[in-house]
Amino acid sequence: MASFEYNGNPSRVIFGSGTLSMLAAELARLEVCTPLFLSTPEQQGPTLELAKSLGARADHLFAEATMHTPLHITEKALGVANTCGVDSFVSLGGGSTIGLGKALSVRTGLVHICIPTTYAGSEMTPILGETVNGLKTTRRDPAILPTTVIYDVDLTLTLPAMMSATSGINAIAHAVEALYAANKNPIVSVLALEGIRPLARSLPTLVSSPSDISARKDALFGAWLCGFCLGSVDMALHHKLCHTLGGSFNLPHAETHTIILPHALAYNAPAIPEAMQKLAEVLPDSDGDAIKGLNVLLERLGVRTALKDFGLTEEDVTKAAEIALSKPYPNPRTLEMASIQELIRRAWVGEKAR
Ligand code: NAD
Repeated sequence: MASFEYNGNPSRVIFGSGTLSMLAAELARLEVCTPLFLSTPEQQGPTLELAKSLGARADHLFAEATMHTPLHITEKALGVANTCGVDSFVSLGGGSTIGLGKALSVRTGLVHICIPTTYAGSEMTPILGETVNGLKTTRRDPAILPTTVIYDVDLTLTLPAMMSATSGINAIAHAVEALYAANKNPIVSVLALEGIRPLARSLPTLVSSPSDISARKDALFGAWLCGFCLGSVDMALHHKLCHTLGGSFNLPHAETHTIILPHALAYNAPAIPEAMQKLAEVLPDSDGDAIKGLNVLLERLGVRTALKDFGLTEEDVTKAAEIALSKPYPNPRTLEMASIQELIRRAWVGEKAR
């Protein structure tokens, strides 16, 4: 085994079904009592219900969380937090709401309890992406990491089938890139494979039976491990392309990850034989070929596979390749303009990765 460095991210996790009931005890444990509850407009109902169950005032809910954490929303929420005199934040939702919770807690130093309801994994990372004047910048700081994460499988039952599928592939993408990260290590690699395994098994079940609680448990547990991978090691080409397509062309987050993953993996495959072999072992019906395993999984999920379906134009393909290669970053295979352009073109048309 090669020498390696490992830095553990300190966070407390509560996992299970019905665990939302432990929020009151967790607030008491952290010696806070007046949180500002955060949600998207779509999840305002369940978040308000939660706030009321804890005796919070209705104005202690800020339900304007939105994708890419725009600064003006964070500043508006900060104003509400100051007016209400809150001592903590509780974010209930996917990566968008958790991003707002991180933006607020890192600015104020207040406790942040996260209650994730998708598989995106932001709750496990000390990473925050924020948008100012349409430009998204990302930073990493241990202070961004949430104080406590409460995973309640029951809250994922309402995640629609297609969102479950694409969000689950978003999670798998974190673990895939962890297997060949420049700073990969054996601990994170084990967690990556053990994160992919339950997700690959449960996602097809969730598409046909979104309320299958056993499959929901598997998927959320897998998402936790995959999110941990994202927060622990550096990501490469796949995440760079998705960041570019989301940030500069406004493509939807989980759907973009789903389309790009097999193409980015196929690009890197010649440089990562060991990772490809391990990946093939945890993808059902791969027959020893990780790309085949991924293609089989995407087919079973019935997800969309062409970026052009989400508004990317043919001219954008070259622009996206240029932006994605404008700054150097570690990747197992050398990044060549023509090949990356071809990768994005194939994903744009919806061709199968090979
Ligand atoms: P999201 O948080 O934007 O949620 C998408 C929609 O689904 C929202 O309307 C939300 O209210 C709704 N939703 C969420 N959970 C639901 C549920 N259980 N039932 C019904 N509806 C539900 O989507 P996302 O993919 O979770 O997050 C994407 C954002 O998170 C992006 O901005 C991305 O950059 C960020 N992100 C950041 C990190 C990080 O480490 N910083 C990691 C992953 C994602």
